[in-house]
Amino acid sequence: MKLKDKVCIVTGAARGIGETVARRYVAEGARVAIADLELAAAEETAASLTAMGPGSAMGVAMDVTDEQAVSDGVARVVARWGTVDVLVSNAGIQIVHKIEDFPFADWKKMLSIHLDGAFLTARACIPHMYAQKSGSIIFMGSVHSKEASPLKSAYVTAKHGLLGLSRVISKEGAEHGVRANVICPGFVKTPLVEKQIPEQAAALGIPESEVIRRIMLGNTVDGEFTTAEDVAEVALLFASFPTNALTGQSLIVSHGWFME
Ligand code: NAD
Repeated sequence: MKLKDKVCIVTGAARGIGETVARRYVAEGARVAIADLELAAAEETAASLTAMGPGSAMGVAMDVTDEQAVSDGVARVVARWGTVDVLVSNAGIQIVHKIEDFPFADWKKMLSIHLDGAFLTARACIPHMYAQKSGSIIFMGSVHSKEASPLKSAYVTAKHGLLGLSRVISKEGAEHGVRANVICPGFVKTPLVEKQIPEQAAALGIPESEVIRRIMLGNTVDGEFTTAEDVAEVALLFASFPTNALTGQSLIVSHGWFME
């Protein structure tokens, strides 16, 4: 087991990619906090992962944009399990508009969930990681950390920002044994993406099938969606890698949509 007894916090893990990462970690023996806006859903996910074992999980209420909620949530995990070894800052939403129509309130909401959330959760976990001289911080970026698409000004801006944040943390954290990396998935069929298909079709005036075939998967090498399991495999690599040799990096898992 690669994460036996490691204490991991995964935000936005009640469903979607975060839930699959949490499941992978529990399968590797970790103790995982399912931190999500939706406590009932987080607790349900935690109960099913604990039943699966060999690790265990707990649900934690956490709005990642709320400074107090983040510090209270991290404190609950530390009170129960003593420390934090791995943070996966994954909670995220999508809002699409043409730039000239993008409501400022939606722009601020996007930057708050993706960037304030990453900053606040990392800042709350880092003292525990420094105290034990080890830790792994993983930000859920996107191919949109590297590439742009129409209608996604806020998302692309926020996802690019995570690269900068992880690089600074990797420089500051190195002497304390703390690493920071970014996972950059292509399209994964989760509720977040299911919602975008009709929205993009309407905004671009094209059929939904064309949104999938041309916009979402047109640049992949094989026309395939990335899966949450693919992303979880990379999340396991970053969480379990033993040294500072792998820090300040971003890894694209996208069926070749974007290559660098
Ligand atoms: P999802 O909508 O399936 O799940 C997101 C989870 O985050 C939900 O459980 C939701 O309750 C939670 N959440 C939302 N706002 C929150 C907040 N303020 N505080 C705490 N929790 C909150 O989404 P997903 O597709 O699993 O996406 C997860 C992450 O992966 C996001 O950061 C997203 O940008 C990124 N991503 C997704 C894809 C994709 O194609 N699905 C591709 C690349 C990157």
